[in-house]
Amino acid sequence: HWERICGRLKIEVGEVEYRTWLQQITLGGIEEDELTLYLPTRFLRDWVRSQYNSKLNQLWSNELSQIRRVELALTPPGNTISQTPVADPNDTLTQAPLNANISPPPAQKTIISQSLTPTIEVKEDDSKLPLQTQLDPRFTFDNFIVGKPNEFAYACSRRVAERPSSPGFNPLFLYGGVGLGKTHLMHAIGFELAKAGNISVSYMSAEKFMYRFIASIRSQSTIEFKEELRSVDVLMIDDLQFLIGKDNTQEEFFHTFNALIDAGRQIIVSADKSPSDLSGLEDRLRTRLGCGMVADIHATTYELRISILEAKAASANVVISPKVMEFLAHKITTNVRELEGALNRLIAHANLFGRPITLEATQEVLHDILKSHERRVTIEEIQRKVAEHCNIRQTDMTSARRARAVARPRQIAMYLAKQLTSRSLPEIGRKFGNRDHTTVMHAISRISELIEKDSAFAEDVELLRRMLES
Ligand code: ADP
Ligand code: MG
Repeated sequence: HWERICGRLKIEVGEVEYRTWLQQITLGGIEEDELTLYLPTRFLRDWVRSQYNSKLNQLWSNELSQIRRVELALTPPGNTISQTPVADPNDTLTQAPLNANISPPPAQKTIISQSLTPTIEVKEDDSKLPLQTQLDPRFTFDNFIVGKPNEFAYACSRRVAERPSSPGFNPLFLYGGVGLGKTHLMHAIGFELAKAGNISVSYMSAEKFMYRFIASIRSQSTIEFKEELRSVDVLMIDDLQFLIGKDNTQEEFFHTFNALIDAGRQIIVSADKSPSDLSGLEDRLRTRLGCGMVADIHATTYELRISILEAKAASANVVISPKVMEFLAHKITTNVRELEGALNRLIAHANLFGRPITLEATQEVLHDILKSHERRVTIEEIQRKVAEHCNIRQTDMTSARRARAVARPRQIAMYLAKQLTSRSLPEIGRKFGNRDHTTVMHAISRISELIEKDSAFAEDVELLRRMLES
């Protein structure tokens, strides 16, 4: 269970956020319907409690239906067990009679021995749980930052939240890469609709849909499952691509889909690709998915990343200098989740150590994250960009000409090569027409001097650097 949950957590919060906050969680044990998780420091415990409580609760109760509450506690002193497996109720059933006294590893004794009895008798049938909607209160329209890449998807989502089941907007199909806000928008729609009252909304990942469906087959309650699904006013299925290759579940979803649409209910689906690109889904399903409104969320732009950072810093009540934000928005371009993860870590460090976040501190604190986001710029690219920018021929980067008009750009390119690549001075020299490493050294100190003295020049070099880095 634990491994599966860690896997889910990694997928849901992203590798970076997982490593930052969740990796250090260790398992305590189960007591009645409560599971205890340990964290090594008070700070981490509070942070995880404030940020991930509902997610952990949700994942655990999906995984083990008897768990109703997840408690986060400080790792007790002397507790050296990590990643202790929790007893699987199903395994226990097959391995031992009900009242067997299974002796656990000594260190866990107190916890496990109390947990076994209730664990065994609760073998709840998941398919009979209500299709309750688990909406995350952090994902609202208010805190969704709108920019060019997502304005269309946002507008469509708002429209559906205001007037569900309008012709032309049913189904609403949201698609885009990881961490760009699909789930956020779906939850926001759900909230808005729930606020309006007497509308039943069901949100489920495609994986959960499959899980419920299979559980209902096992417990011979497929009819109830279908009826329940078909009674909702709004059905949201997240990450539909998960159903690729799961033919029976896909078939079931197709029927549910048709029944709901025919009954005038709203369907909202998200996926990582457009309906036509979701090869592996049945044609008839893809066709129907594309029949309503299809909205693409594009990769973030620099401007959107800055707006998001500003908004998140403001809501966390932390002042972060524009320099640091610009730095982050330049460096972490993959997705919003990673950007958030980096910012959260910065904020936590600032709070923890009570000092303002400088650029140097940022680089230090985010060292590992930044490293994985480094883009490999080649010396040739640098030469090309600088030549283009300074209006000289690229061949002049390697030529013997010494005229200032070509020598200065060449020096700039050498300087940037040192800053942006991991090449050594002799290697850089060789790439610039077999020049000596002392020439490169001279170029670097000359350019550094100019940057110090001449702010217009400094800006120019900075601009080049940004173009190369993005
Ligand atoms: P997806 O479902 O597309 O993988 P999510 O909706 O889970 O992505 O978004 C990942 C994280 O980034 C969430 O914490 C979400 O709140 C945040 N996020 C994404 N886009 C935005 C945005 N435009 N404004 C604010 N937060 C965003
Ligand atoms: Mg998602």
